[in-house]
Amino acid sequence: MRTTARVVVIGGGVVGVSTLYHLAKKGWSDVVLVERKELTSGSTWHAAGLLPLFNMSYSVGQLHRYSVSFYGGLEAETGQPVGFKQVSNIRLARTRDRWDEFMYYKGVADTLGVKVNVLTPAEVKAIWPLCETDGLLGAIQHPEDGYIQPADLTQALAKGARAMGAEINRYTTVTSIERTASGEWLVRTDKGDIICEHIVSATGNFARKTGAMLGLDVPVIPVEHQYIVTEPHPSVQARQRDGLPEMGVLREADSSWYLREENGGFILGPYEHGAPACYVEGPDAQSEYELFQEDLDRLAPHIDAAIARVPAFGQVGIKKVYNGAIAYTPDGSPIVGPAWDVPNVWLNEGHSFGVTAAGGAGWQLAEWIVDGEPTVDMMGVDPRRFGPYATRGYLKAKNEEAYANVFTPHYPDEERAAARPLKTAPCYGRMKDLGAVFGSVYGWERPNWFAPKGYGIDVASIDKPDVLTNENHPPADRDGKVKEIWSFRRSNYFEHVGNEIRNVTEGVGLQDMSPFAKAIVDGPGARDWLELIFANKIPKTQGRIALCHLLSKNGGVRAEFTVFEQSPGRFYLVSAGALERHDHDTLRKLLPKDGSVSFRSITQAWGVLVLAGPRSRDVLQKLTDTDLSNAAFPWLSGKKISVGHATAYALRVNFIGELGFELHHPIEMQNAIFDLLMNAGAEFGIRPFGIRAMLSMAVEKSYRLVGRELSIEYSPLESGLHRFVHLNKGEFIGRDALVRWQERGFQNRFVTMEVDGVSDVDARGSEAILKDGKLVGRCTNGAYGWRLGKSLALGMVRPDLGEIGSELDISILGKPYRARVVEESPFDSANARLRA
Ligand SMILES: Cc1cc2nc3c(=O)[nH]c(=O)nc-3n(C[C@H](O)[C@H](O)[C@H](O)COP(=O)(O)OP(=O)(O)OC[C@H]3O[C@@H](n4cnc5c(N)ncnc54)[C@H](O)[C@@H]3O)c2cc1C
Repeated sequence: MRTTARVVVIGGGVVGVSTLYHLAKKGWSDVVLVERKELTSGSTWHAAGLLPLFNMSYSVGQLHRYSVSFYGGLEAETGQPVGFKQVSNIRLARTRDRWDEFMYYKGVADTLGVKVNVLTPAEVKAIWPLCETDGLLGAIQHPEDGYIQPADLTQALAKGARAMGAEINRYTTVTSIERTASGEWLVRTDKGDIICEHIVSATGNFARKTGAMLGLDVPVIPVEHQYIVTEPHPSVQARQRDGLPEMGVLREADSSWYLREENGGFILGPYEHGAPACYVEGPDAQSEYELFQEDLDRLAPHIDAAIARVPAFGQVGIKKVYNGAIAYTPDGSPIVGPAWDVPNVWLNEGHSFGVTAAGGAGWQLAEWIVDGEPTVDMMGVDPRRFGPYATRGYLKAKNEEAYANVFTPHYPDEERAAARPLKTAPCYGRMKDLGAVFGSVYGWERPNWFAPKGYGIDVASIDKPDVLTNENHPPADRDGKVKEIWSFRRSNYFEHVGNEIRNVTEGVGLQDMSPFAKAIVDGPGARDWLELIFANKIPKTQGRIALCHLLSKNGGVRAEFTVFEQSPGRFYLVSAGALERHDHDTLRKLLPKDGSVSFRSITQAWGVLVLAGPRSRDVLQKLTDTDLSNAAFPWLSGKKISVGHATAYALRVNFIGELGFELHHPIEMQNAIFDLLMNAGAEFGIRPFGIRAMLSMAVEKSYRLVGRELSIEYSPLESGLHRFVHLNKGEFIGRDALVRWQERGFQNRFVTMEVDGVSDVDARGSEAILKDGKLVGRCTNGAYGWRLGKSLALGMVRPDLGEIGSELDISILGKPYRARVVEESPFDSANARLRA
């Protein structure tokens, strides 16, 4: 065994071996993998080997797409058969919501370049004659989907990796990890030590144990998952004898199961409610090829539903039930990318579709490690999308919930209930009393919208008793009522959000934005360091506020911060609450080594109340002796002010495009400030507003968001951030790459579009944008703009189609709508209201 290596990959399942393979393929042959037992002896050996391309996440969709195409060529490359059968995958729809989901997904697939066919029930019957089609609305089919033999795939990857110089050590267990004085990693194993530069943790069900060796609380806890293998069925055998093609993987999402042919019989895999978390403390030291006791009772409703759909399944005996551990994270997507707090540690963990994702995850992680940057926007799988709140109790509840929801419709506005409330701002109770319907982000409760007093919808009127995946609303209150129905279309809260917007636009509104990520940067080198990392100039005048972007090494956008110099040399940075760990970890890792700059996260200590609307100045002026007039306190500036007997930094910025003040205050003063504002605002009709109102207004202002139109895949100049990027200010991260990118020419242009003819649905992001039937871009966001009375969409399109007046089509839930490019910030494009 080598005693030094550039990278040590821990874990010889499909994910670890794929990472090793891709590192070697990128030219790093000095790489070593250690596996405590035999390769594939973890979860990989018992996987059903399905390769579902279907995924709502852009990042995961990209990884899956790569895998399927890469696996197709692996046998030819390595000479090792992988048992890849491209039999296609058919997903059945029984409800209108499901159909909406499929049509929404088709947009995601079209923009990713994943082939999807739409089938009628009769076409399903032609492909799957053993499937009953009554009650079906139709289906979607992935013709390139199928399944593979996971163990063979892993062996092929291992063979390929070895051929490129990588070393694999089986029966070698990592026992501890230390950091050397010279900044390398010392990986201790029961067969000797290895000194290395990078560590990749790909340890499946052991993720938390491996994390503990590094001081990391890794947000992965597995859940039990079962599938049933049956005896052969004469009809399937007859088809095989007749040389008919395999029928494909059949998925009835509304009953939460998949079914495919296996050795003349079937495999049925349900995703049921009540599957327990397992290996909470990690598997024990001897664990190898481990399965749990089967529990068919739990699967009974799904088995019944499968028999109703495919009666042949009920006519054969069960040969074997596999009940194994499947790794989960709270949102069901894996964690692929850098660990937080420690340098050169990479996580490729939490894979619940690891056979499918392994190829893509190995590919992107290798790029990240070798080149310092992935090429795909990996925000959807970045390990730092979860924070320190994601500890054991939270993970058990959330991961079981994620498992139970694999097949429920993934409504864009769903707010799952488990492990809530967890993090609440002090004004939570007050907001609740005012009718807040909360959503959750990064563990925080945030008001999404406000329901009128006594408002509720009878659950019995919206439930769909004939399907098993019924979750289109939160759990009912004690009176059997719910406040909202989740949907791909405008839903019950639409008008109420409109009322909130009207109140803000005509008077004044109050919003809780306490989850914002907040940090203080100071020290003698603070200003120079910020200049060196951000594309914008740091304002020379103290109190001026700048929007600053951290670019990736390749010139894309990695993060966005509001920067405000509170006092000379002391900078306050604000960014999206959901990205706290990502943003703060990224900045911390960029700090100069000489200690000249200090970085402190103060998210929990500071709250934020946003007071906005044309009467906001009148309200606040009643409470402060600071002159709030435009001359004394202009837009894009901030001051420390008193608010009654409390204190706050007031920043004249907001995300809705109205006159307003963000009041950043010591968290313990929040309720005092809240009450002062509500009392002072009563005469102006102050009312709270929520995230959904804010997002609609933000679209009217063409405001960009990280993870949508801001991404490492788009240069800031494609995203229209010209006024925030100063290529001639001197060196900053990503500058040179951006200049080269500009010389090569851009592929995309950010546009704002008005959408014609919609009645009950707006673009949301991920829809395909077409010109003369050809794909020319993708939507990144969209909403009904209440102030304009128009349906709007934001998107990235081919640059020549981005001129004002350009006519395009947007496919929303499968139907094309005419869209026209309009000027940026169609509501108050001169920002007169913000500057008022
Ligand atoms: C019943 C079932 C069916 C499934 N079906 C599918 C499917 O159809 N399609 C699909 O895509 N996915 C499926 N999955 C999920 C899939 O099995 C996993 O996502 C995938 O195998 C994960 O691979 P991995 O490499 O991350 O983990 P594992 O295969 O568990 O590999 C991790 C390895 O790390 C090793 N290790 C841990 N700690 C150490 C240490 N300290 N030192 C050295 N080595 C260590 C372990 O021994 C283990 O071999 C299924 C899962 C289950 C349970």
